[in-house]
Amino acid sequence: MSYNIALLPGDGIGPEVTKAAVKVLDLVAGKFNVEVNYQEYLIGGNCYDKHDTPLIEETLEGCYKANAVFLGAVGGPAWENLPHHLKPEAALLKLREKLELFANIRPAKIYNSMLENSSLKSEVLEGTDFIVLRELTGGIYFGQPRGMDDDKGFNTMVYSKQEVERIARKAFEIAENRDKVVTSVDKANVLEVSQFWRNVVEEVHKDYANIKLNHMYVDNAAMQIVRDPRQFDVILTSNIFGDIISDISGMITGSLGMLPSASIGKKYTLYEPVHGSAPDIAGQNKANPIAAISSVGMMFEHSFQMTKAAELIEKSISKTLDEGYRTQDIAKENSNVVSTTEMIDLVLENLEKLFADEAIGVFLL
Ligand code: NAD
Repeated sequence: MSYNIALLPGDGIGPEVTKAAVKVLDLVAGKFNVEVNYQEYLIGGNCYDKHDTPLIEETLEGCYKANAVFLGAVGGPAWENLPHHLKPEAALLKLREKLELFANIRPAKIYNSMLENSSLKSEVLEGTDFIVLRELTGGIYFGQPRGMDDDKGFNTMVYSKQEVERIARKAFEIAENRDKVVTSVDKANVLEVSQFWRNVVEEVHKDYANIKLNHMYVDNAAMQIVRDPRQFDVILTSNIFGDIISDISGMITGSLGMLPSASIGKKYTLYEPVHGSAPDIAGQNKANPIAAISSVGMMFEHSFQMTKAAELIEKSISKTLDEGYRTQDIAKENSNVVSTTEMIDLVLENLEKLFADEAIGVFLL
């Protein structure tokens, strides 16, 4: 088995955390006897500096050819004053659109040794493990007409049946391998588009009778996530609601440096840490590589169907945290503070140990 991976390190700490991703990919793929090949492409500010645009055709072509894409992060003060369409972040939106990445998966899972890092009480949080599935290419961020003049500003929230169907199907499929509960989050008491969303989700649910489906209004969902996060398994929601809900969910379980994500389309998949390019710590070997490493775990699970590999990556992160090692962003008083490269080495060491402990050496796929 052989996979081609497009690497888009980007700006700021992007290249530093991409190194972590590659090291983990190499180790795990090797253990499973899988070959991985990398091609690196420009995106974001670095790309703008060379080509006067944050996304070039060569990068897009490279992503089309790859089995999966890994992206570090883009952006930074050097490019802040560029016109909107030339900003590094514009490349991200374009990439998602071009690769038709309609489903964004963000896990909200708490590592036991990180309970104290949350702003929520440990007893509320312990055992939290859910996924936010956000529709990524439709809804109000893309709807027409949109605009503003001196008297008004307006956007349009519109969803087609096909758009809701495919994201709902994805939610039920993900729930199949989890606790089999989908909570669809909308605002059907006020918005027609949400009532339509709800109707279509109900319709699709008929094909997944073994999955429990609940509906929840978005304002209530925001409150419930903070009140009792353990009640959720898979949260299915639209682009704008998902944008907000996934940030709330992410932050109750840790810091930005810990949060991975996967964006899935019919043909292409992209994995990236949730955080940005962190210009304040770029180049200082301080970045937390865990979000990037965890995103690699998601790549093994969703692109290569190697759930065991994903599980071992998560276990090695958990073990490293249990041992008290922390990058600066997640450090507490008694933590053993380590650099980016030290954290990568510690996770790799634990991965090696886990492979040895389980005496699994080479897996048959
Ligand atoms: P940010 O995520 O880059 O940083 C916010 C804070 O979190 C900073 O203090 C930073 O040091 C810290 N942080 C983030 N990731 C970390 C990590 N892995 N380890 C340790 N600390 C970490 O958000 P921002 O400061 O609002 O944005 C900086 C730039 O990144 C902007 O240009 C923004 O547009 C861009 N951005 C890019 C993406 C992306 O590429 N997906 C996402 C968000 C922001």
